Amino acid sequence: MIVVKTANELSEFLRNLKKSGKSVGFVPTMGALHDGHISLIKASNKDTALTVCSIFVNPTQFNNKEDFKFYPITLEKDIERLIESGCDVLFLPNVAEIYPPGKPVRHYDLGELENILEGNFRPGHFQGVCQAVDRLLEIVEPNFLYLGQKDYQQCMILTRLIEITGRKEKIKLLIAPTVREKDGLAMSSRNLRLTHEQRSKALVIYRQLSWIKKEIANVPFFELKKETSQHLAEQGFSVDYVEIANADTLKPASDGDEHLVALIAATLGNIRLIDNMILN
Ligand code: AMP
Repeated sequence: MIVVKTANELSEFLRNLKKSGKSVGFVPTMGALHDGHISLIKASNKDTALTVCSIFVNPTQFNNKEDFKFYPITLEKDIERLIESGCDVLFLPNVAEIYPPGKPVRHYDLGELENILEGNFRPGHFQGVCQAVDRLLEIVEPNFLYLGQKDYQQCMILTRLIEITGRKEKIKLLIAPTVREKDGLAMSSRNLRLTHEQRSKALVIYRQLSWIKKEIANVPFFELKKETSQHLAEQGFSVDYVEIANADTLKPASDGDEHLVALIAATLGNIRLIDNMILN
């Protein structure tokens, strides 16, 4: 695996490679890698000639300064894991490579999606995600982009980013299923910050999502949501939202909707966790 730190170096390397007809898969991450990230690297290895992973803790997508300050960094271990997984290139840019001084900051028209659920509780978050990913796509120009369903709304936002930046014909977006711990907790870099006690309480999120899935046809939506919020609060969570939504629009579900997703965001201590589950 080669490690590249500048945009120019990476673009040039990839341009030469693509000239010989080779396809490039891209896995953007913020590091503190776990099996969820590695599943994306492996999917890319299967489909493409060359896999690029980026690690960049993007300051503009953190609306909470503490969350940014304490975001876990485990670079040496990440590099080992990437080598083991067969990743070809690690891109490790600094802030100036992603936000070149003097380059105007773009505002993206993300529609309603920007302001609901995560967007409602994390103002500016998705603009920040788009700023970083747009720049990364400009540098890497991948043929395939791999994202995790764990960040359901982010997948929808980045689908839109690809459309509004005219890359729809050039990039195939692939969404991989959420990788979970044995007991069901969705893997997340932020799990590293959970205490032993918080780690066992965190499981309630997965249990409630599974319960909603089981009961979706029998119990009214509002009751499923209310009871789930109550269970989370009993375990000490501060709940941002428990939503049952139309899986294609993320608008609150109505009875006629066929394709549904349940989404939860809740904070334990000062660690905010999100998870979701497709219901049908
Ligand atoms: P992050 O490092 O949290 O920004 O995530 C980088 C990519 O990995 C995103 O596309 C995430 O959706 C994906 N990802 C994070 N956690 C998981 C997981 N448990 N399973 C599958 N993909 C994941």
